[in-house]
Amino acid sequence: MKYKKLNLKTPVEDLYMVGEAYAQRLKRLGINNVWDFLYHFPFRYNDYSLVSPIASLQRGETVTLKGTIVTCQNSYTKSGKRIQKAVLKDSSGQIEAIWFNQPFIVNILRPGVEIFLAGKVDYFGSRLTFVSPEYELLKAKGSPLHAGRLVPVYRETAKLSSKWLRSRISPLIKLSIPDFLPEGVRKKENLIDLSRALKQIHFPQNREEILSARKRLSFDELFLVQLNVAQRKKKWQHNQLTYPLKGYYKEIKGFISALPFKLTTAQNRVVKEILSDLRKEKPMNRLLEGDVGSGKTVVAAIGVYLCFLNGWQAILMAPTEILAQQHLKTLKSLFKDKVFRGRKLRIGFQSGRKKKIPRGDQFDLLIGTHALIYESKVLKKLSLAIIDEQHRFGVEQRTKLIKRGLTPHILTMTATPIPRTIALTLYGDLKLSVIDEMPPQRKKVKTWVVPVEKRMDAYIWIEKLLKKEKAQAFIVCPLIDESESEVLKLVKSVKIEFKRLSKDVFPDLKLGLLHGQLKGNKKDQIIKKFSQGKLDILVSTPVVEVGIDIPRAILMVIEASDRFGLAQLHQLRGRVGRSKKQSYCLLFASQKDKESLKRLNAMQKYNSGFKLAEIDLKIRGPGEVYGLKQHGFGQLKIASLMDIDTIKKAKVWAEKLINRISKYPTLQRELKNYKIKFVESN
Ligand code: ADP
Ligand code: MG
Repeated sequence: MKYKKLNLKTPVEDLYMVGEAYAQRLKRLGINNVWDFLYHFPFRYNDYSLVSPIASLQRGETVTLKGTIVTCQNSYTKSGKRIQKAVLKDSSGQIEAIWFNQPFIVNILRPGVEIFLAGKVDYFGSRLTFVSPEYELLKAKGSPLHAGRLVPVYRETAKLSSKWLRSRISPLIKLSIPDFLPEGVRKKENLIDLSRALKQIHFPQNREEILSARKRLSFDELFLVQLNVAQRKKKWQHNQLTYPLKGYYKEIKGFISALPFKLTTAQNRVVKEILSDLRKEKPMNRLLEGDVGSGKTVVAAIGVYLCFLNGWQAILMAPTEILAQQHLKTLKSLFKDKVFRGRKLRIGFQSGRKKKIPRGDQFDLLIGTHALIYESKVLKKLSLAIIDEQHRFGVEQRTKLIKRGLTPHILTMTATPIPRTIALTLYGDLKLSVIDEMPPQRKKVKTWVVPVEKRMDAYIWIEKLLKKEKAQAFIVCPLIDESESEVLKLVKSVKIEFKRLSKDVFPDLKLGLLHGQLKGNKKDQIIKKFSQGKLDILVSTPVVEVGIDIPRAILMVIEASDRFGLAQLHQLRGRVGRSKKQSYCLLFASQKDKESLKRLNAMQKYNSGFKLAEIDLKIRGPGEVYGLKQHGFGQLKIASLMDIDTIKKAKVWAEKLINRISKYPTLQRELKNYKIKFVESN
């Protein structure tokens, strides 16, 4: 009766057999209501579907029995542990089962009771026995949950077992759940309906039912992602730029040919893509991807130049003050002496320490940190916003910029090598430009994995190299995870390492220490000192910024490198190799399992971020590799980002349906819920 009143939003506290304590545990798994319960999918299934006669059992088999309890008693092992022993029979024979420390079992498994028993058979002492099997009383009605079938296994937490979860989820799948997917889509894509999919994902009758459930639920997930993206795209394109930029083809050509180097083919291609967007009436929203050192800055500069020619303004934002200053230096030299119709290209700089930004027409390009975005309102003639090394890829930033009457073009730049398919899924509302080529004559950073016994030799070699080349080095210690206690531990270890290196290893060299617990000011000072050549070695946590340009640094040493993903290692390595001199990267590894060796060897062999990302993707999967969580994107529950086929289909449908979404109220509601749950909670 009670279930009649249930709906998807019913909180877990109101469910049968869920008390306060269990409700708290469920919350730890992120389960707050019926919907969460139903979408807590099993991560695998134990196949207990085969019911075997006792006489046929063999050691090591995982099986289900159907039989009658003969005896069940508490007893003690030789070492004094409390165990429960039962004897079970069927028409073919008898077998024993034991449990540890579950005295209540003897009250349930009374002689004569019929049960299912499922688990692995093994020797216990000299006899074949079931050790801690699952059991379930045979009921007159309904199919069993824990045995005699494909049994779902869930992510668990302390004092919350799969068995308990199964029992609670089982009545919920009887709910009739409104299907938000339009029937046309379901038919065309050959998908089962939602209630059935949820039932099958938890309690499948066979393997095929798991597959068809997964197919439907994966489609849902990717479809909702794509709908969300399509909606963002629509909103963005709705805002028209009042004044599209004029061409100035001749002037742009002149600017490019006056550069101190020839653009690579890839740079030329992306410049073309970007400029063509800037000349349109719709605001551009583009992601520029390119490996560390591939030359994204000059590409951005060409865009800025077009704005300047048109008499409009641009802003360039970097994640840190130091990177902003570096951009200032680079762009000052690129735009030196640029005059057009008597106007010079003026660059403003917004330091984080200054409160107010200069207003009005005092500059053509304003450079600063990402915080600039909050102040961009005062820029009356802003037509291009460039966001460098941004992780969230402009979702929030755009909404900040959209609110004003006139929407500027946005160019987001990143060195994270996101494959096209993933970009298509997550950032499908952005157009993508990729620089997949390095400037010529760039030397490959020589990379070696250093075995433990060669550590001292390596130190001697390092000192010699630095002295001979008058060069500098980074020594980086890893951040294992980003919890506070880990950060503190790391700071401690990097401090100890710094002391050890300064006193015992490199007493003749000048060392500096950099870590995330230093105040911004102090941090800047140390990096400045290093970039001015006043330090020989910078001992650091991975806080050394992406993109920092210190040409005299030609050596990167990475401690415990097996703890890093390939993408991170590659980013760290990218901080050297920026001069004409040969650069080096030494990888120390604390442990050497097969997988980490594979990764470190890939570092020795390959220098391309895209290639390394591809390898990492195979070894570790997309969530880990691209830090999708950091990118403001929750983990997909069931769909795979490698499932290109479904991604494409979902995209086509999303774009088709977004303009008619008001005709599908259940879908509209689902999309809203999805956003609250999935995007904004991150
Ligand atoms: P990133 O893509 O990592 O931001 P940068 O824009 O900082 O890379 O460029 C790295 C270095 O390469 C800079 O010193 C830049 O002047 C130089 N550079 C860029 N493009 C070329 C090119 N086509 N030929 C030679 N050097 C280039
Ligand atoms: Mg850069």
